[in-house]
Amino acid sequence: MNPIIIAEQPSKSLSEALSSLTFSSLFILTDENTQEYCFPLIKDVLPESYFHFTFPAGEKHKNLETCAEIWTEMTEAGLDRKALVLNLGGGVLGDMGGFCASIYKRGIRFINLPTTLLSQVDASVGGKLGVDFEGLKNHLGVFNEPELVLICPQFLNTLPSNELRSGFAEIIKHGLIRDKEYFENLDFQNWKENDWKSLISHSVEIKKSVVQEDPKEAGLRKILNFGHTIGHALETHFLDGSNHLLHGEAIAAGMICEAWLSVEKCQMSSADLEQITQNLLEVYGKIRLNKSDFEPVLNLCLQDKKNEGKEILFSLLEKIGSCTFNVPVNKSEIAAALTYYQNL
Ligand code: NAD
Ligand code: ZN
Repeated sequence: MNPIIIAEQPSKSLSEALSSLTFSSLFILTDENTQEYCFPLIKDVLPESYFHFTFPAGEKHKNLETCAEIWTEMTEAGLDRKALVLNLGGGVLGDMGGFCASIYKRGIRFINLPTTLLSQVDASVGGKLGVDFEGLKNHLGVFNEPELVLICPQFLNTLPSNELRSGFAEIIKHGLIRDKEYFENLDFQNWKENDWKSLISHSVEIKKSVVQEDPKEAGLRKILNFGHTIGHALETHFLDGSNHLLHGEAIAAGMICEAWLSVEKCQMSSADLEQITQNLLEVYGKIRLNKSDFEPVLNLCLQDKKNEGKEILFSLLEKIGSCTFNVPVNKSEIAAALTYYQNL
């Protein structure tokens, strides 16, 4: 895995990174928010000339149409195979910018400066890149590593609090799947008061250790999908409506449902279920789920890319801090998990 550096301020480390790499031209990608809030923090250390492309923010732009615009810009800028892409943004930008770099001329190098909590603790580690397609999350993509990931907690100062809370869900997940003590030391009641810098560094270590053991998700890496089978289905189902959910909000609800399945399928204790449910509800509240949402959400679960053949394979907890994978779950069990959530 390529280096991941955590630095309080971006400018010094970026300047060092840029001088250690040779490249023919630099292509910077921002979305409209990171252009406004994050770009000023790195501007001073950029080379005299560079290309810069900004696209509208949000998951709904994580698609091939935006990629086509990026590839057009790259082509018009005349980028050759020695060009370097700098992705300055959250998970949407990192996934899509890395994907565009990996496809352009069969792959040019890129570095990631993740600017959301979610992308700092999760999306920028592990080399999964891609875009949504035909209503399916991350349906098109590749595995590829950036030259460098530079994580600067300072970017979080301008991040809206709902986005911060969304990233916190991945931190909670890391504790649930790998480290009970980490989970139990998180502050749920005053979640904004958590020491983000130290959580980022611990979460990156957890994600790295899992990914290093199983980079292509042949087995163990699947534990990182805890909460995501149902969570992604909820996220996709509510993508366009007024109930629109952030990734972490959907994953938080998904983790509650999948914790319930963990009791049913993996003998997790009901005390653990109670603790997980209470802690997650404290931070995220409950999303509104009607009976009419069940069928489309179930169908989306069945299309999830983690399925092999006809079985729906889940990553579920044996207890807080320990997760197993490839647990077959049927449609009616998923419906029962949604009912548990709905009745809370
Ligand atoms: P995002 O990239 O859409 O960013 C959230 C919002 O915050 C956007 O409006 C963005 O413009 C704004 N923003 C970003 N940084 C900011 C800053 N410093 N100050 C102010 N505003 C800022 O969303 P996200 O939550 O970072 O990422 C979600 C995406 O990540 C999803 O598409 C998900 O599939 C993907 N993801 C990928 C992986 C992976 O392993 N590749 C893992 C988890 C999630
Ligand atoms: Zn996630």
